[in-house]
Amino acid sequence: MIYLDNAATTPLAPEVQEVMSETARLHFGNPSSIHKYGRESRVIIEEARSLIASFLNADTSEIIFTSGGTEAINMVIRGCVNDLEIKNVITSPLEHPAVLNTLQFLRSGSDLRVFNVDLLEKGKIDLNSLADLLDKYPGSLVILMHANNEIGNLTDIGKVTKLCRKHDSLYLADTVQTLGKYEFDFRRIPLDFACCSAHKIHGPKGVGFLYMKGGINFSPLIVGGGQERNMRAGTENISGIAAMAKAFEIAYDKLEENSKHIKELKSLMVSLLKENIDDISFNGESEEEGLYTVLSASFPKNDWTEMMLFNLDIAGIAASGGSACHSGDESVSSVLKSIGSDSDRITVRFSFSRYNTINEIETCVKKISKIMKV
Ligand code: PLP
Repeated sequence: MIYLDNAATTPLAPEVQEVMSETARLHFGNPSSIHKYGRESRVIIEEARSLIASFLNADTSEIIFTSGGTEAINMVIRGCVNDLEIKNVITSPLEHPAVLNTLQFLRSGSDLRVFNVDLLEKGKIDLNSLADLLDKYPGSLVILMHANNEIGNLTDIGKVTKLCRKHDSLYLADTVQTLGKYEFDFRRIPLDFACCSAHKIHGPKGVGFLYMKGGINFSPLIVGGGQERNMRAGTENISGIAAMAKAFEIAYDKLEENSKHIKELKSLMVSLLKENIDDISFNGESEEEGLYTVLSASFPKNDWTEMMLFNLDIAGIAASGGSACHSGDESVSSVLKSIGSDSDRITVRFSFSRYNTINEIETCVKKISKIMKV
């Protein structure tokens, strides 16, 4: 099989798996215990926190370990709305369901108001419309993802942060698809919240973190013991946290090398698809400017493309479609709808990682063009 679905999840790196199993085997102590076993586990967690914070130029107190991106996003939205009593949220229809469904849930029966920024050509965020909304509704929570998981569009988080500062608003950037893939400096770009999911960077599933800028304070989402400085109760996932830190370390130590390799794979895929498939096009900004790990290809509809993902699977290629796949729903995804994609075409999202090879890309396009010519 050729695995080109790395935006959905990535394979565990062998070095990460080693750290995970060694930590689980050797460090079973509860980090809240005061004896040696507990203290050793505590050291592992705090070392992981320091390492992650150092790559982001953040303070260790600003990193809160969670079960992943969805929990971090829920924590911010519910904390801001329920605890800080923020009444206006400014966001976009391109956000992940973790954002959109949480907002929808909180809206029913409350006075929370949600405003969408306008989208420009190819689904680009219109920063003028954000500025207008912030002018009207200062003190809002702004949620605009750094990179879109389906079409790869990138948001200028520096500009959004500046606009939010100017209008006394808080900014949550969903960085699940970009942490570990770009350099971040949270002192230089002082956004308020960002989130990480380890399984997107060759780490384990069910672990991530919330970056929350110092000075912001709200009640935890999960209440119980005093773990994570009273911000996230529950005995910590020690081996998952240690493994995530290892995944982070590898991602940043080899960032230049890996991003160069993945960019080459993506541009090869674009040119081979253009050479071999008549009437191919690309959704959003994924062809050129977008996130370098995502390519959202749009195929003309025919007998073969109607069953595209199944045919790709049979041909040994794992990729994602353009349907609302989170729920097993076959209808066109809300992201594609909101950027005005032609519903008569078939979308396949190919997403790459450092483990993919040039040979895999060539084989993949050969297989696609062969089957399409049948
Ligand atoms: N945000 C984005 C942009 C994502 O791609 C995902 C995962 O698909 C999430 C949030 C949710 O992250 P998690 O799987 O850790 O809950």
